[in-house]
Amino acid sequence: MLEYAEPVTKLIDELKRLPSIGHKSAQRLAFHVMRTPEAEVERLITALREVKKRIILCSVCNNLTEIDPCRFCASTSRDHSVICVVEEPHSLVAVEKTRSYNGVYHVLHGSLSPIRHIGPSDLRLANLLPRLKPENNDGVQIREVILATNPTTEGEATANYISRLLKPLGLRVTRIAMGMPVGSDLEYVEKVTMDKALSNRHEI
Ligand SMILES: [Zn+2]
Repeated sequence: MLEYAEPVTKLIDELKRLPSIGHKSAQRLAFHVMRTPEAEVERLITALREVKKRIILCSVCNNLTEIDPCRFCASTSRDHSVICVVEEPHSLVAVEKTRSYNGVYHVLHGSLSPIRHIGPSDLRLANLLPRLKPENNDGVQIREVILATNPTTEGEATANYISRLLKPLGLRVTRIAMGMPVGSDLEYVEKVTMDKALSNRHEI
């Protein structure tokens, strides 16, 4: 990387750390930044700084939030007896878009993957079990836990793992229907498909 001035090389190196960004993409993004007016770049810097400064994880459900507990956990109009477990905050958004779900959430921030050396301790699972007890849930008895992890090998493995964890507690544990294309990310699943996946969920 001797061909670029040091600040350019530094920027490319930092961009390469981002997920799914290889050397070529990093280079393209760096050139884009250099061609962009300074005011626009400042806006990007401010957005990055703000998100790091203001966004935290909800202590109850791990959702991204500015206030703790998040607006779902704090809501009195939502059904706190149903918990929908999702992999990422954007999966939560996909479920919300259906407008047919009124329970609360639990965000894992990942999925089990032996290939990528991601085990149960790498997921945000530790705060799931305690909240299933009525005494930790404002006295509300959990009726159902919906496993809405992605329809991928990792998502399936994660759903099976959590199901094995929860079954002994005598809870109703369901898995969203897999009418959606295997290998897809809930983020890209159409609203109608997601709606069907939710309503056709089955016990596992
Ligand atoms: Zn929350």
